[in-house]
Amino acid sequence: MDCIFCKIINGEMPSKKIYEDDLVYAFMDIDPTVDGHVLLIPKKHYTDFTELDDNIIIHMHKVRKELTKLLMDKLNAKALSISFNYGDSQVVKHFHMHLLPNLLISDGVKSSVEEIYKKISN
Ligand code: AMP
Ligand code: ZN
Repeated sequence: MDCIFCKIINGEMPSKKIYEDDLVYAFMDIDPTVDGHVLLIPKKHYTDFTELDDNIIIHMHKVRKELTKLLMDKLNAKALSISFNYGDSQVVKHFHMHLLPNLLISDGVKSSVEEIYKKISN
């Protein structure tokens, strides 16, 4: 299947990995809205949120709590927003959650993805 996120999961395309287990994968967004913009995706290809199974929803909830703690701690964030898009605003048709530190209280991107990745993965 010609899906960039499936390619990231199977290593055909590079990514800056934050977390991985049997069911999910998390990595830095390549074109961040804010510093620390992370995407959390199921390894199984679900096109959008309407296709998700209960078990993956529960698992993604557990993982997003862990990732929230990680991002708040490592980036010294004061806030974090979680969202996903659907329909025409969902560009990549492999379900993904956006984790957006300080989204509503910052002026946007201040550092390179590389710099932020170093902070998070240290
Ligand atoms: P959405 O509009 O919800 O589909 O968002 C897609 C997101 O995927 C955007 O924030 C993009 O910057 C991000 N993105 C697209 N290609 C890549 C990639 N190869 N690696 C990391 N993030 C990507
Ligand atoms: Zn996919």
